[in-house]
Amino acid sequence: MFDTAVIGLGCASYTAAIYAARYKLTTLIVGETEGGMGITAAEVGNWPGDIEVKGPDLMERFRKHALSFEEVTHKTARVEAIEPLDLARGDKGFRLRFQSGETAEAKTVIIATGSNKRHLGVKGEEEFSGKGVTYCATCDAFFYRGKDVAVIGGGDSAVEGAAIAAQVAKTVYLIHRRKEFRAEPYWIDKVKERKNIVLILENAITEVKGDTKVRSVTLSKPFNGSTDLPVDGVFIEIGADPAVGLATPLGCTLDERGYLKVGDDMSTNVPGIFGAGDVTSGSNHFAQFTTAAGEGAIAANSVFAYLQGGGGHAGSMG
Ligand code: NAP
Repeated sequence: MFDTAVIGLGCASYTAAIYAARYKLTTLIVGETEGGMGITAAEVGNWPGDIEVKGPDLMERFRKHALSFEEVTHKTARVEAIEPLDLARGDKGFRLRFQSGETAEAKTVIIATGSNKRHLGVKGEEEFSGKGVTYCATCDAFFYRGKDVAVIGGGDSAVEGAAIAAQVAKTVYLIHRRKEFRAEPYWIDKVKERKNIVLILENAITEVKGDTKVRSVTLSKPFNGSTDLPVDGVFIEIGADPAVGLATPLGCTLDERGYLKVGDDMSTNVPGIFGAGDVTSGSNHFAQFTTAAGEGAIAANSVFAYLQGGGGHAGSMG
């Protein structure tokens, strides 16, 4: 039985594994997508110590660091369920059930499952998914060299995505439902610098149209006299919802926005279950590499205290 199982292969997860290993805790780190949301960051300019680093490179360094410890076991698998062991028999801990049918047991679990990209829910979106509609502008922009694309949203993902896409695309239409962006001013300035980014504000798309691939989007209000906007690609970047699917069947409490509710020590209301990263209510919902790493470190520290019988720190929900 592992001392702890960390679910997720992103920034919070790898940091938790590094800290857990240094506490000499046997640690299973398991997840489906290597690098988590971190690999979607084309350019990270706020990881202290690196003026600029590519998300995939940073995540590869995290992975190598965590796997350098003999206490850490890495597994690529989809976790289908976390089940409490038989408390009646005095077993304390959890069984992880993988999609393959295999299982693993751990005394504690750190849920660092991140978030799932939101869909718009407009006509044609699902039909053209993978045929021009994608959910990661920074990952897919390079397939649209010399083409016209639309980016939907007004947060960091959309504004950064538009700036990155503009490096290769002919024209990038940044379509946002409001006049103000919630993105970092750094990225807003980058967007304003690019002559080939056209802002379409206080507007929305109501349909994606095409044949074998995307040909246009329909706008809710006319732009330059028409509601039909010809584009080759549509990048939907309207945020993400916390991936709490493994936590809720365990009885973990969510906050009012649907995030895994954690105390200052990253404990949930279920003893032995901790959270870290974008899935949690921690760090004031400020989803960053730095905050995810901080939460991963705190979660591992709290697991150590819990296994020693300390039960965590002040603010513990356990
Ligand atoms: P976000 O901050 O939640 O922004 C989502 C954007 O999509 C908002 O502008 C929102 O509009 C818009 N939106 C939401 N639902 C919509 C709908 N149904 N139709 C049209 N527009 C809709 O999401 P995010 O940009 O993916 O960022 C998520 C987190 O990751 C944030 O904490 C962000 O700081 C972080 N992040 C950081 C970086 C970085 O540091 N470089 C990069 C990417 C992401 P309203 O503004 O009107 O609500």
